[in-house]
Order: sequence, then structure tokens, then C-alpha cells
Amino acid sequence: MNLLLHMCCGPCSIYPVKQIRESGIEVTGFFYNPNIHPYKEFARRLEAAELYAQKVNLSMIIQPEYTLEEYIKQVLDSPGGRCRACYRLRLRRTAEYARENGFSHFSTTLLVSPYQQHEIIRETAETVAAETGVPFYYVDFRTGWKEGVAISREMELYRQPYCGCIFSERDRYYKLVKSN
Ligand code: SF4
Repeated sequence: MNLLLHMCCGPCSIYPVKQIRESGIEVTGFFYNPNIHPYKEFARRLEAAELYAQKVNLSMIIQPEYTLEEYIKQVLDSPGGRCRACYRLRLRRTAEYARENGFSHFSTTLLVSPYQQHEIIRETAETVAAETGVPFYYVDFRTGWKEGVAISREMELYRQPYCGCIFSERDRYYKLVKSN
């Protein structure tokens, strides 16, 4: 198996990469996250992901485009809710890249977070697998969430305070500002 792993950020990659390697699977990281807002936050998360990849000798493919308009358009028009559309955008690109570049499977580090909509990620990835013909490698990485957090602190990696998009940034801070 030759797995292309969508990386949402450095800290969330820690446990999945460790677990995948321990299973004897060859893994390559894939950074494609046009959902992250604002651009400075995108750049900061990318920098942390690259730092992490360097520390653990992980090959990492970076899709540097910041296609904000495409992202906003897709999530605003989505009848299934913004997160479903956001997962789909990122996973579809990952699976297409895997298909075009000889990877046998794809997966995502989003599966490690207890704060993500795990079942929607799984359903979306399975749909993308059926559409692209690239099998989805599923593991419930949430069992390693705490371990990943602890290691990310030891590595002094940047840990983001909100999921990524402008909406999640508002949800994180708006109430705080209102209550002050
Ligand atoms: S909250 Fe997170 S998963 Fe949902 S749309 Fe925003 S960035 Fe994407």
C-alpha cells in the first residue's frame, strides 16, 4: 500500500502518521486546505506542517493555491452544510492527486480530531473513493488524539485555536467579544 494522506495541519498529522507507519504502510503527506482563513493563518499552519514533516522525515506534497473564492462558493451553496462541502473539496483533490500520481489509497488526518464531524468525513471520503476509483483507508484515529496533542507540545508546534474557515473563526471569538 502506498498511501496519500491529506494533512489538515501539523499537530493532527502526528498520530495518524505514526500509526500508519507502525502498520508498515508507506505514507506521503498532502497539504491542500484553501478553507483556512485568513491567509496569514494558512501560511502559519503550512509552516507548522512543513516543520513537523521535516522532524519526522515525511515526504510532503504542498498544494499552495489559496482558492478562497472557490471554497466560499462551494460551502455557501452546499445543501449538506458547510463542513460536508469543505471535507469534500479537500478529499476530492487528495484522491484525484493520488489517482494521477500512482498512490494506491488516500486518507485524511481530519479523522484524528474529536472536534470534527467524524461520520460525515467518513461518508464523504467513501463517496469520493467511489467517484475516483481510489480506495479510502479508514482508521478511527481519535484514539490517539491525546497522544498527538502531547507530542505536538513537546515539538513546540503551532496549535491553532479554531477549525480553519472564517465561520469557525467567528464561532470561536464572537461570543467572547460579545460577553466582554
Ligand atoms: S468548520 Fe472546519 S470543517 Fe467546517 S467548514 Fe469550517 S474549516 Fe471546514
